[in-house]
Amino acid sequence: MKNLYGIDIWSDNNFIIKGSSVNINYKNQPSLLEITEAIRDKGYRGPLLLRFPHLIKKQISTLYREFNRAREEFNYKGEFSAVFPLKVNQFPNFINSLVEVSREYNYGLEAGSKAELIIAITHTPLGSPITVNGFKDKEMIALCFIATAMGHNITVTIEGLGELETIIEVSREFNIDSKNLIIPKIGIRIRLHSSGIGIWAKSGGYSSKFGLTSTEILEAYELLKKSNLLDRLLMIHFHIGSQMGEIAPLKKALREAGNIYAELKKRGASALNAINIGGGLAIEYSQHSSTKELNYSLKEFANDVIFLMKEIAKSKKIDEPNIFTESGRFIASSHAVLIAPVLELFSSEYHEKSLRLKDKNPPLIKELYDLWTSINSSNAREYLHDSLDHLDSLLTLFDLGYIDLEDRSNTEILVNLIIKKSIILLGSNDTNELQRLQSRIQEKYLVNFSAFQSLPDFWGLGQNFPIMPIDKLDIKPTNPATLWDITCDSDGEIGFNRDRPLYLHNIDLNSDEYFLAFFLTGAYQEVLGMKHNLFTHPTEVVVKFNEDGEYELDNLIEAQNLIDVLDDMDYNKNLIDKQLKYMIEESKLLSKSKKRDFLGKLYLYLSENSYLKTIQANREDINDYSI
Ligand SMILES: *Cc1c(COP(=O)(O)O)cnc(C)c1O
Repeated sequence: MKNLYGIDIWSDNNFIIKGSSVNINYKNQPSLLEITEAIRDKGYRGPLLLRFPHLIKKQISTLYREFNRAREEFNYKGEFSAVFPLKVNQFPNFINSLVEVSREYNYGLEAGSKAELIIAITHTPLGSPITVNGFKDKEMIALCFIATAMGHNITVTIEGLGELETIIEVSREFNIDSKNLIIPKIGIRIRLHSSGIGIWAKSGGYSSKFGLTSTEILEAYELLKKSNLLDRLLMIHFHIGSQMGEIAPLKKALREAGNIYAELKKRGASALNAINIGGGLAIEYSQHSSTKELNYSLKEFANDVIFLMKEIAKSKKIDEPNIFTESGRFIASSHAVLIAPVLELFSSEYHEKSLRLKDKNPPLIKELYDLWTSINSSNAREYLHDSLDHLDSLLTLFDLGYIDLEDRSNTEILVNLIIKKSIILLGSNDTNELQRLQSRIQEKYLVNFSAFQSLPDFWGLGQNFPIMPIDKLDIKPTNPATLWDITCDSDGEIGFNRDRPLYLHNIDLNSDEYFLAFFLTGAYQEVLGMKHNLFTHPTEVVVKFNEDGEYELDNLIEAQNLIDVLDDMDYNKNLIDKQLKYMIEESKLLSKSKKRDFLGKLYLYLSENSYLKTIQANREDINDYSI
């Protein structure tokens, strides 16, 4: 029971199954269900994004611990530093938590745009590193000079010779008649000959968008020298792409970058003291041991970086460089969990209560009924085969006009019930045949979330995220599940996949609630999320733990309400407001008091977010509604 939903594979012990629920493996170990219910008790509906700062801290401290261990083990003289690349998650509830939990580490931020740079300048503690990558204009470079003047430890990485020329120009302008020279540290991003692997491999390799070729590096060197800026060239930078499932491409890139570093140093770039290895450190998203994405550990990763740099430094007789990393996915993924309520199951017609058996049924249907009531573990396989055989015959009889629609419906229900029952009975010895049958009886779960908003990498790249119910884990789930989101786009579907099956519970949503959790959604998903159908960022909350080990909810931000969503789209919200009011006022169908009543309802709805209320709530709504 312990390794349900592959929790041993992807959760890194952050979550555990305790009795019927999935719990946070920290302090008092609250369940995701009790946290979800506490938030819903405050009246919030729709999907919830829970953030766990202790998991951000865990990743940061693990990263430093492993690199420092490797440095000691190999007696490495260079230092280790790290920055968080803002593009991975810029949301304030995340960044503020990250800054708070990383104080002891001298951990910094990486920016790739002006807006990100402003976040970095205002959130990085003075002295901790800031790196600035991506394409830059003069203003962005000037911002780096301003940050330097504020006392920041900031490195501008040049992505092309033009940027270097701009740095030289800005440096002249900023340093006219100043006593103290104000010049940020300069880094050079190199264009690697080696490239990464996987769906995010494009960032490395010769055709990559970024970095300088060998020829350009030599030109940059000359230009820096000529402009008296060579003593500001401190860093060599590369980034080979995200979610690097294998270690081999990294090793190649390290050798390439290490040798470029050494060559520049020997040529005369004596201030050069750091290699920034970018991001790319992967995490395990798979729920199934057959589809694992990752073939190395952080320990191996750190050992390889330190060992290879040591080797190159030794053979080229230079000091061992300081190492910088910009791992983002590794730091941010695990901290966020999306919890979404299931709204409806779409195959309830296959319940026993839907049977329309007659006083006199066709003999094959009677037989199906007997198979279903007498199936047990010793006859399950045989009865299953018999029922599939009967299904074929009965469907043929229907096509030929010998049985009616009710008989056909009874056939479908009974065969499905038999398949389900035999899957349970034969459960422990799953065969190919059983797996194939499962796709036939899959259930559709309508889930109150938008895949476009909350899992854009699933939509765009086919990236899978671990999914599991947060309750009922003491009951064996038997429904092969397809998930539908609430957008009206058929791409918003996570289909049942025989290689990566997801089984969920049979639930009666009239009497019970059922929530699904989507894990490892803390990197990239939030800001890449699209407002398709105008579903916006879900309600989010920071879950912290106090000294007694109890959890506390902090900084709850509710999903945008309808009118603000429209305002954000640049609709004139006053005009919309006026028009709605006018149309109700002018209605010929409403009495005066009804008009007031309707207007009240309308404003209530406009003040809520666009996610659905549970179906149950809607039903109550309809009941107390009388025109
Ligand atoms: C995106 C990016 C990163 C982060 O990559 P991860 O795979 O999230 O670790 C680091 N550095 C640069 C330059 C990037 O563009």
